[in-house]
Amino acid sequence: MTSESEMKTVFLVKGRDKSVMRRHPWIFSGAVDAAKSDAAKAGEIVRIAAADGTTLGWGAFSPESQIRVRVVSLDAANAPGGGFVEERVAKSVARRADLLASGRTDAVRLVNAESDGLPGVVADSYAGHVVCQFTSAFAESRRDEIAASLMKCAKGTKGVSARSDVDVRAKEGLPVGGFETIAGEEPPELIEISEGPVRLLVDPRRGHKTGFYLDQREARAAVGALAKGRSVLNCFSYTGGFGLHALAGGAAHVTQVDISHDAVELARRNAELNFADRAGRDMDFVEADVFKYLRTCRDSGRKFDLIVLDPPKFAETRSQVMKAARGYKDINLLAMKLLAPDGVLATFSCSGAMTSELFDKILAEAAEDAGRDFQIVARTRQASDHPVALSFPEGLYLKGLILRCS
Ligand code: SAH
Repeated sequence: MTSESEMKTVFLVKGRDKSVMRRHPWIFSGAVDAAKSDAAKAGEIVRIAAADGTTLGWGAFSPESQIRVRVVSLDAANAPGGGFVEERVAKSVARRADLLASGRTDAVRLVNAESDGLPGVVADSYAGHVVCQFTSAFAESRRDEIAASLMKCAKGTKGVSARSDVDVRAKEGLPVGGFETIAGEEPPELIEISEGPVRLLVDPRRGHKTGFYLDQREARAAVGALAKGRSVLNCFSYTGGFGLHALAGGAAHVTQVDISHDAVELARRNAELNFADRAGRDMDFVEADVFKYLRTCRDSGRKFDLIVLDPPKFAETRSQVMKAARGYKDINLLAMKLLAPDGVLATFSCSGAMTSELFDKILAEAAEDAGRDFQIVARTRQASDHPVALSFPEGLYLKGLILRCS
């Protein structure tokens, strides 16, 4: 760490210090007075100063990104010390100690980026094999230190790997692509994890995100608890998580639908792993486009008692929200029509750009068009190991409703 006297300074444009004052962790390039500021290296810690020179805090510089500085500390009187990365990793891991000790799962998000004070750092542990995504210049420049800290602070960590196939890396000027083990041992091709009553195989190299959707853990448990005796349609099933929880919860039958051949294959293997005796009989797998499959069910008059809709992100940006809204309305309307009396719809949106209010409105419109009454039984959000800093509402991306029809 550079000593405070040698530290470079980034000056904000007059009047552009409001977001820092609100404790928001991002400073955009337009807020930086480039002519007055020092040139810093990618990931270097800089002093953040108001136009009049007052120290506001400290942040990591990113020369190529629109997000020019990621704030790491607002303690104006003290620059972050040399060990601050390890301290934050330790704190982040400690915050998950109860979840890990609960025995409910051995697959946990250990670090959730900005909301855990480590901008652009995501670390997910799958039975001790940690898979990271580094999506900021800060995260990339500290990856060895982060890996060493995880090995030291997260008990039972066997190794730490980095997945770099995330498009947002390009926005930070970081290379895209590849999987690399950076500390400890290489993970196996498939890692077996447990989540409540279910075991799942996770592919750390080719699976989505870091391999699995840990963010839906609590929603999968909620669906499992509602599944008893029901016929279940799990749309956008990926590796089958919701459907496996439903069967474990006593569902009469589960249909898993996903467009990806690899996802369906892994879902089949997961079914074998958990329900070798029932898998062939009480669970079937459909490789299809959900938009089309729901129409096929509608046309054939098929009904279900519980439908899960967990689509991929339909909107990447705010400008795509209106188009995304049509997609959400389409699948929700179709699903609402397929529900048997007293049926349950568990419906989700993982588009950060889609607000909770707009999602509610889309669902209300879909119910209106379906001509059916629904009650909100529960709301879900990303699991508690994906916390959201109050000053960083962008961190909340996953919203869900569990609806029951009359
Ligand atoms: N519910 C899953 C996560 C779903 S991720 C879980 O709990 O683990 C979204 C999934 O939707 C991906 O597996 C992707 O392959 C699938 N998908 C994307 N577009 C699709 C479409 N049009 N029809 C069916 N599946 C689709």
